[in-house]
Amino acid sequence: MTDETTDQPTVRTGSVWAAVVAAGEGTRMRVTPATSAVRKPFIEVAGVPIVVRTLRALAACADIEGISLGVAVGDVDLVTELVASSGLADRVRRVVAGGARRQDTVREAVRAVPEDVEYVAVHDGARPFVSVEVLDRAVAAARRTGASCVGLPCHETIKRVDDEGVIRETLDRSRLFSAQTPQTFRRAQLLAFLEEADREGTHVTDETALFDMRGIGVEAVTGERANIKITTPDDLAIAESLCGGPGGFMRGESLGEGIAVGIGYDMHPLVKGRRLIVCGVDLPSEVGADGHSDADPAAHAVIDALLGAAALGDIGRLFPDTDPAYKGADSMGLLARVRGRLAEEGYSARSIDLTVFLERPKVGPHVRHMLRRLREATGVPVERLNIKAKTMNGIGPVGEGRAVAAQAAAVVERL
Ligand code: MG
Repeated sequence: MTDETTDQPTVRTGSVWAAVVAAGEGTRMRVTPATSAVRKPFIEVAGVPIVVRTLRALAACADIEGISLGVAVGDVDLVTELVASSGLADRVRRVVAGGARRQDTVREAVRAVPEDVEYVAVHDGARPFVSVEVLDRAVAAARRTGASCVGLPCHETIKRVDDEGVIRETLDRSRLFSAQTPQTFRRAQLLAFLEEADREGTHVTDETALFDMRGIGVEAVTGERANIKITTPDDLAIAESLCGGPGGFMRGESLGEGIAVGIGYDMHPLVKGRRLIVCGVDLPSEVGADGHSDADPAAHAVIDALLGAAALGDIGRLFPDTDPAYKGADSMGLLARVRGRLAEEGYSARSIDLTVFLERPKVGPHVRHMLRRLREATGVPVERLNIKAKTMNGIGPVGEGRAVAAQAAAVVERL
């Protein structure tokens, strides 16, 4: 096999970027109140925006070195922020404003791919379930033949109907192929065809059409039925079920990769002349918790649970008690900073369960206030926060009223 222009042996490991089109208005999605105000790329499936799921799926393919993302003109800043907060900034290297039609957005995204990149895999932003196996096959086929299109053979019998809706012809389904994405081509050739289509006013619904209308064969690569394009509310329901329902895991992703759990525990002595602050709430008490900071054991336990889940060490590493900066520190403020630290690493807290161990005063009447403080500091909605309170029946330092303790478990998701 030789390269057309140089007669040099074809470079089988030609570099690949993905060009993702996510500029859709989602007009076919706007039938329910839940989705009416949200543009399609930002609609969530099991708690994660569709476009983030798609970018994560592409980032899982080792062959794809970079991603160029075409979005609606008004969405560039918002999507850039979403990409960063999802920990995808190192893979999504370009976020560009698209155009009115799909092909305009594809053209802008392909234009933004660096010129030394050999292949571009064009992918729909609304196909989050593309697997690494399909991506590998698509890239391998394009490197072999210069152009590939993922899709499925037709198992249903397709009819041609006339203007009156009367069936006039039954097509030979053995020759039919239902196209999906990615569709992978040589970057320079694809860009030239897209620009030519723009100049000549040619409209296409996918990129393979630009090749077959020129008589250039595109290799058909077998895709997967799960590689659906989320277009209608029905598709959204299917997508939720593919994720195992709201809060479910991403398809093909193990518990260890997407979701992590951490625990934390803390205890402080109770002494006269100190305030007793638990989960950011000042409790009425003759004795208070002693410590370098405000000695809030609940905040400290939650911080350790979150840091543990994200494998980021512990509270002492982040906020050393030898550092005078943290003397008397507001621990809920430290918790909010931990939330930011997690976001930098691409993690987001999903749920927190906290137990406070205190003999007196009673914690129960303050739980609602504590839940509010915890929500403010962590951003986790109240329905996924839980605070329990226990006494120790007169036994041990807590039971004897000499200490306050807290234990927390946290679930985080890597976005
Ligand atoms: Mg502590």
